[in-house]
Amino acid sequence: MTELYEYPLLVAPLSIRCPACGLEARFETGHSHALPVRRAGKRHFEAGAPDWSGEVRCLSCTKMGRHELSWPEDSYYAIEHGGQTLWALDREMMVLIRRFVAAGADRSRVQGENRRILSRIPALFLDAKSRDEVVRKIDKVLGLDRAVARR
Ligand SMILES: [Zn+2]
Repeated sequence: MTELYEYPLLVAPLSIRCPACGLEARFETGHSHALPVRRAGKRHFEAGAPDWSGEVRCLSCTKMGRHELSWPEDSYYAIEHGGQTLWALDREMMVLIRRFVAAGADRSRVQGENRRILSRIPALFLDAKSRDEVVRKIDKVLGLDRAVARR
């Protein structure tokens, strides 16, 4: 969904799927520029080839080290619906997207300062007909479906 969330939003840390175990891992870049950066030496950013590299640290296994990011394929908080991918940088952003999708007619109240992110969610995910299914898929990726089942 790169065309929907512009790359300027892609500032690490990001939640990614651990390349070793598939559970949630953190991806960091050591700089605060949006990805990909173009490097010309250590401190100069604005030249050279697109650089997606950073460090991965898994929250579950011992995986740690350099990682070349593939986005949105590496995204941990992502769902597929109707052939499109909806991704979030991290759990917090996916929780926000869930609130927005679930709000239906009340969406303008949720939007607020997050307009920049939320206005880019494709209509497909916001359609009243797909709302329940989209929320179910988001709950699954957030682990909320298991919390409900335990109750
Ligand atoms: Zn892992």
